[in-house]
Amino acid sequence: MTLDQKIKEKYEAVIGLETHVELFTHTKMFCGCKISFGDDKNVHTCPVCLGHPGSLPVVNKRAVEFALKIALALNCRINNYTIFHRKNYFYPDQVKNYQISQYDLPLGEKGYLDIDMGDYTRRVGITRVHMEEDTGKLIHTGATGRISESGASVVDFNRAGTPLIEIVTEPDIKSPEEAKEYMVTLRNLILYLGVSDCSMEEGSLRCDANVSVKEAGGKKFGTKTEIKNLNSFKFLQKGLDYEIRRQVKLIESGKKVVQQTRHYDNNTDTTKALRSKEEAHDYRYFPEPDLVPLDISKRLIEKIKGEIPELPQGKVKRFEKEYGLSRYDSNFLASDISISSFFEKCLAHYGDAKTLCNWIMGDFSALLNQENISMEESKVKPKDLSEMLKMMDSGKISSKIAKSVFEEMFKTGKSPKKIIDKKGLEQISDEDVLEKIIDKVIEENSGPVKEYKGGKKKAVGYLIGQVMAKTKGKANPQIVNRIIRKKLS
Ligand code: ADP
Ligand code: ZN
Ligand code: MG
Repeated sequence: MTLDQKIKEKYEAVIGLETHVELFTHTKMFCGCKISFGDDKNVHTCPVCLGHPGSLPVVNKRAVEFALKIALALNCRINNYTIFHRKNYFYPDQVKNYQISQYDLPLGEKGYLDIDMGDYTRRVGITRVHMEEDTGKLIHTGATGRISESGASVVDFNRAGTPLIEIVTEPDIKSPEEAKEYMVTLRNLILYLGVSDCSMEEGSLRCDANVSVKEAGGKKFGTKTEIKNLNSFKFLQKGLDYEIRRQVKLIESGKKVVQQTRHYDNNTDTTKALRSKEEAHDYRYFPEPDLVPLDISKRLIEKIKGEIPELPQGKVKRFEKEYGLSRYDSNFLASDISISSFFEKCLAHYGDAKTLCNWIMGDFSALLNQENISMEESKVKPKDLSEMLKMMDSGKISSKIAKSVFEEMFKTGKSPKKIIDKKGLEQISDEDVLEKIIDKVIEENSGPVKEYKGGKKKAVGYLIGQVMAKTKGKANPQIVNRIIRKKLS
């Protein structure tokens, strides 16, 4: 057996993910400092988020509500009595020498998230959802920004105290593909909730992956490692792929996997050891004495439940039922809240869901990908796309012209009517006009005409093509087809 076969047949991966989500509240978790990116360094700070002795934290109510939204959307049981703990450790971006977090009484516990893997659904257990605060940011001086090439590091505390949610899964994930799909699904869910911008590149969504391998079908888990620095879906999958391979190789050669934290290097697609279990922190958790316990009332839970919008999985089911779309189409539309809301806004003006969906999945998505922007950022207005599709259906413009009109809409944000009027792109359906052009084409193309009359019916395609060329694509092809056949019969 090759190593690849062994990985596939002899072993099974066991994966659990720990995800951090930065909430986009206006102010920080325990003080009134503004949350804002791209400003000068250390301008959004105060004694609380700088950890000055004697300063007192106050819980941000909105952050608790956002966290509740996430916990409820992940089907968690909510602890009505929940408290904060101090997690003690030293790091230069953590001036207090502790982080306010939650420990044995987290906000939410025992939830789940269902992952649609196409052929099957994987239910991933959610161990806990808890609230904490983010650290400051270390900036390594020097041109490259890499710590190894830097003479000194400075700290920007603008981020310190930003509300963070940690979501920990059970070790229910069985492959790197499932891990990636879990993150895609989770991200989409949180985007729907509107509580974070969930950018993996910018660090508002971060994930650490715990992974071990065990004998296929076996019950006993192997020793796990934890991978850090997985800041894209691709890196998550690649890091796990590498780590599973590394662990299987070790076991196959009679060695043991050592429990440790490992750093993923995206230049080499490998992981290397950061610290082992012996060096693991003892955080000396104790209840935060400066904060009162939170009483999460039934009323608050009901209020937050009422604010949770229709979620992606519910949306997929509704699109299938209400609009008769396939699972594939519905999944695509629901995969991004900016797409699904655009789609439904268009439907208010245009009834053919399938044609609309095809257009969004095809031409529109292609242009978005090309420009690397989201639907929200595009200039196309839902009403305008609907208008254009109506013009296409009524024969006012051909489908070929529609493509170029749409490109113009995408570029300029102008209405299809404006574009068509200005460029004279309206489809020619006037039979008198078309007849004159067709007569000319027949006159100029005696060869193909002879072939057609001699029984080679395909030659009509060439003649239609000539009419289209003469009209710059504006002739209505159905009408042209009918007139040519009539004239030649
Ligand atoms: P630690 O004490 O090292 O933090 P936890 O038990 O808190 O470990 O689990 C942390 C994460 O690791 C969770 O997501 C959990 O599902 C996952 N995990 C636990 N045991 C394993 C294992 N043997 N293999 C893979 N993942 C695991
Ligand atoms: Zn502050
Ligand atoms: Mg743990």
